[in-house]
Amino acid sequence: MKIIDGKTLAQNLRKKIANQVKQYSRPPGLAVILVGDDEASQLYVRNKTRACVEVGFYSDQIHKSSNITEEELLSEVNRLNENQNIDGILVQLPLPLHIDSNKIIEAIIPEKDVDGFSSENVGKLSQNKSFISPCTPKGVMKMLDSIKCDLRGKDCVIIGASNIVGRPMAMELLNAGATVQVCHKGTKEITHKTKSADVIIAAAGVANLVKSDWIKEGVILIDVGINRQADGSMTGDVDFEDVNGIASAITPVPGGVGPMTIAVLLENTLIAYEAKL
Ligand code: NAD
Repeated sequence: MKIIDGKTLAQNLRKKIANQVKQYSRPPGLAVILVGDDEASQLYVRNKTRACVEVGFYSDQIHKSSNITEEELLSEVNRLNENQNIDGILVQLPLPLHIDSNKIIEAIIPEKDVDGFSSENVGKLSQNKSFISPCTPKGVMKMLDSIKCDLRGKDCVIIGASNIVGRPMAMELLNAGATVQVCHKGTKEITHKTKSADVIIAAAGVANLVKSDWIKEGVILIDVGINRQADGSMTGDVDFEDVNGIASAITPVPGGVGPMTIAVLLENTLIAYEAKL
């Protein structure tokens, strides 16, 4: 079973970006807004900020208290929309319940929406005219490309239908010529579908959901899930040990899709920056 090494792929992409940045007099700028004190969100934001600094980007980390009003957050986004030194704006999700996340995402101008979550960027992706597309699915496509997986005509099953992963993932795969099924909590006979898949993207957020009796020999398994165990360790949505020897390739957790997501965020910021040159 081939291990698709996301850590190394991400490192290579970051190196490429860092070399590209050296030729510019002004560094690309990424602003990350964090609301509240959620520990996982704080960790993600720290990792994103560190990655920015490493490739020579200007990084602006804005931390707001969880009692910020929607109005105040909207004006913060507007301020960043107008800031000429900021090319990408990211609002770390989830936001507190009193704030309408959709409203905040739509307030980011599409040219600076480096997460690719705005209706305009999602619309472009679904029409195969992508400008900036969501980081995790885009990272997955790069990982599939790294093992020379030709997706044309392949049967792909996605487990999970969120706006962040499952749905944009379906569009990416469809754009690459695959036949796509998107499964979710309400899907009947899910193993019937996964068993006939050439490629499975697991993004349900359920630890060790995909087992050996869910898959066929030679399947490619992309494990997007990040599930914290009681002992603090991290596990994916695929039962790695159980599928070993049946799947032909797999992305590990940790060290798979996670690092690629951050590297693609940097790439999206560079795309947003270069579009303004
Ligand atoms: P979400 O909770 O928004 O969506 C989960 C989806 O999975 C839903 O569509 C739900 O219906 C479906 N689902 C849940 N349980 C299921 C089951 N038993 N069978 C079939 N479908 C099921 O989650 P999300 O934001 O899309 O994230 C999914 C997972 O991916 C989480 O573990 C998250 O931490 C991880 N994630 C990882 C990265 C990364 O960079 N590696 C990025 C984003 C999300």
